[in-house]
Amino acid sequence: MSVSDDAIISIRALTKLFPGVTAVDEVSFDIRPNEFFALLGPSGCGKTTLLRMIAGLEMPTSGEITIDGQDMALTPANRRPVNMVFQSYAVFPHMTVEENVAYGLKVVGTPKAEIGPRVEEALRMVQLEQLARRKPDQLSGGQRQRVALARALVKRPKVLLLDEPLSALDAKLRDQMRLELTRLQHAVGITFIIVTHDQDEALSMADRIAVMEAGCVRQIATPTELYEQPASRFVADFIGRVNLLDGEVTGTRDGIVEVETRGLGRIAVAHEGPVSGKVCVAVRPEKLTVSSAEPTDAPIRAQGKVRDVAYYGNASHVFVEIAEGFELTANVQNRSRRIEGDFRPGDTVWISWASEDTLLLTE
Ligand code: ATP
Repeated sequence: MSVSDDAIISIRALTKLFPGVTAVDEVSFDIRPNEFFALLGPSGCGKTTLLRMIAGLEMPTSGEITIDGQDMALTPANRRPVNMVFQSYAVFPHMTVEENVAYGLKVVGTPKAEIGPRVEEALRMVQLEQLARRKPDQLSGGQRQRVALARALVKRPKVLLLDEPLSALDAKLRDQMRLELTRLQHAVGITFIIVTHDQDEALSMADRIAVMEAGCVRQIATPTELYEQPASRFVADFIGRVNLLDGEVTGTRDGIVEVETRGLGRIAVAHEGPVSGKVCVAVRPEKLTVSSAEPTDAPIRAQGKVRDVAYYGNASHVFVEIAEGFELTANVQNRSRRIEGDFRPGDTVWISWASEDTLLLTE
């Protein structure tokens, strides 16, 4: 097997079959040292199974996992240089914070003199030094979550595996913990692999994201690349909001592809490389401009009727029907919206966008 030099984890053709379902299907990729890596995908796509195989909690049906240069095939979970933080962030209710953190070291027979300083170090990492003597029921949800993190960090793993670590927290705390986790990862300098179905979570925290669907990895890229250059319709649709237009290529010349779209007629899209047949044109809602007057200099424009306006405070989503049964969604910042004037259901408006903001997807 070829293992990249610059990889803390190498996964090759990893497959897990359960009766009647292929949970993970010949997946191969590398994770770099000190990377914050996210496995992202809809429910049932196989991300937890993949994480559990890395942890050694699930045996692969076939394929290989190498961690820090060692093949893991015969290495049991407790001898792997990884540690897992579970969704339910289990902590022992009858033990204090520091006893909770010390527990994992005690059971593996760590010398007593070493335990104290290591617990202190782990609590410092998650900023819980002041609360060392409290019991879990005297802590907030976020603080309990940090105890669970400290319990994992105290073992000094090379890789920390986090299965939906923020899903039990309320929305506000989740936002705060996202930032804390990112800062913690930078500070401790170990590799984090997080499983999530929440694209905002992955986009805001991870250095790179593997987007999974039906047991397969569809794309691995940085958050910006995934959002700006999705490789497929599935990824474009899964990461953020997007307007998708089915179309057919009618001609190509000098890096410009002409596409006959359902709903918007013929449009020209910048695209390198050969392309023909059925395609999908994608454009993000924030790339659309909504105006009352026709933007005659915009190469891609269409007139339509506002169907609905959804107000989100800083921005509004304006749903514009371009043709019978065909709508585009524009994300209008409310600062500029005040300048341009309000849009209301029933208004006749123009939608336009720049050619370079148009993505051509072939799968
Ligand atoms: P979720 O976000 O809902 O946790 P997931 O992406 O983590 O989903 P997995 O839990 O890895 O998905 O499950 C992948 C597939 O494997 C699903 O179809 C699931 O039902 C199946 N599966 C997982 N664990 C088992 C098991 N122990 N026995 C049988 N099937 C399983």
